[in-house]
Amino acid sequence: MALLVCTWVVVPAQEDQRREIPGAATVSGAPAEEGATANQPLPVPGEPGRDPVPVLDEEYFLPDLSIEEMPEIPPGGEPRPAPVPSPAQAEPVPVVPAPDETGYVVAPSLQLLGAEVFSGQRAELKWTAGQSFGGRTLDVPVLVAHGLKVGPVLCLTAAVHGDELNGVEIVRRVIGDLEPKDLSGTVIGVPIVNLLGFLRGSRYLPDRRDLNRYFPGNPRGSAASRIAYLFFEQIIRHCNYLVDFHTGSLDRTNLPQLRADLSDPGVFEFTQHFGATAVLHHDGATGTLRRVASEAGIPAVTFELGEPRTLQIEHVDFGVLAVDTLIDKLGMMKRSRLWAEKQPVFYASRWVRSDQGGILITNVKLGAKVGEGDVLGTVTNPLSTEVMQVRSPFNGRVLGMALNQFVLPGFAAFHIGIATREPDELMKAEMESGTRAPSAPDRPDTEDAPELEEGAGERSEYD
Ligand SMILES: [Zn+2]
Repeated sequence: MALLVCTWVVVPAQEDQRREIPGAATVSGAPAEEGATANQPLPVPGEPGRDPVPVLDEEYFLPDLSIEEMPEIPPGGEPRPAPVPSPAQAEPVPVVPAPDETGYVVAPSLQLLGAEVFSGQRAELKWTAGQSFGGRTLDVPVLVAHGLKVGPVLCLTAAVHGDELNGVEIVRRVIGDLEPKDLSGTVIGVPIVNLLGFLRGSRYLPDRRDLNRYFPGNPRGSAASRIAYLFFEQIIRHCNYLVDFHTGSLDRTNLPQLRADLSDPGVFEFTQHFGATAVLHHDGATGTLRRVASEAGIPAVTFELGEPRTLQIEHVDFGVLAVDTLIDKLGMMKRSRLWAEKQPVFYASRWVRSDQGGILITNVKLGAKVGEGDVLGTVTNPLSTEVMQVRSPFNGRVLGMALNQFVLPGFAAFHIGIATREPDELMKAEMESGTRAPSAPDRPDTEDAPELEEGAGERSEYD
């Protein structure tokens, strides 16, 4: 089906006079054409330098109009007027965007969770996920900044794992700093998705299930599946983009980094807007929010920062700056603090394991560049002076690592990102040369996939 373009003729209004011009809005049935200029804004006299009215050429900007509602255009002729429905057939008149007092197109109200948020306003809504406890429901706060102008809907979610706190503060700060009257589009933030886990200081739901393995959920499934279903249907389906914040698993920490399926062109494009944030290609474990959202056509990334159970201000600052850069690059709002640096992209990564049990002491810092053979840390037998060095089998960068602790043989201690041009390049080279490291599983990420993503697998081995 050809895309339909809705063209609003924007008439600049006088400063002291609000003009209602519903008749000036025309609907064209012509197919969308790249570079079409029909919906360029008219200049606003006496106000040079104003931001242009957003061009309404994206699918998500289109009002909900069906083909049947479009006037037919006979060949070479003028559009015929649309048939006027009889009163009995008349549908409720939709809320159409109207120019505000400065002549700009005002975004329509946002309908979310049974509430209406007017353009240019912020709101705190409640999402009830059927999370009843002792007969009472638990309402999860949903923060909304609904811009005055039309634009994309960016969703920010955190604490899907209830003990991961850095993202909670990032979402709060980002939305708190937005001025909806200057915003094109909408930012929806859910700082604490897994409120039941958060209140218990736990990664999991009370039934020990990991919510981030149950998307898109099932309305008749387990408790986790039902919560996932409601969250996905009632909130995520409203998003055009999604950033889901996480941290490393217990006693591990992560360099700030995006996890994204770079084989998806929409996701790849989305990852370009986070400034200097490192990007690691990974298609995501089955049932993770970002994988399911991306598969549903909503470009999504996981944003990993730091470690759980603590608030790390340096990581919070990093995340806020990255999302501010994103908001600017998506054309939603001009932000003064931006990143222009190039981001490192890693198409492959490997965990380096300790082959001995003992006390792990790390020698490297997060983000450090390491070469093949470099000592990453030591594992000391607590009952002797026996010391084993853990060396990097690769050239790469430390994307994640364990905190100093007692470890068992086989413990995944260092997560090394490897800059390759293609996802499987490293594995192919290792297979051909016979140098595949014993610490690397035959199928990369299979054993470690939960840990790579958000750490559930290994974590549950140890708790
Ligand atoms: Zn997580």
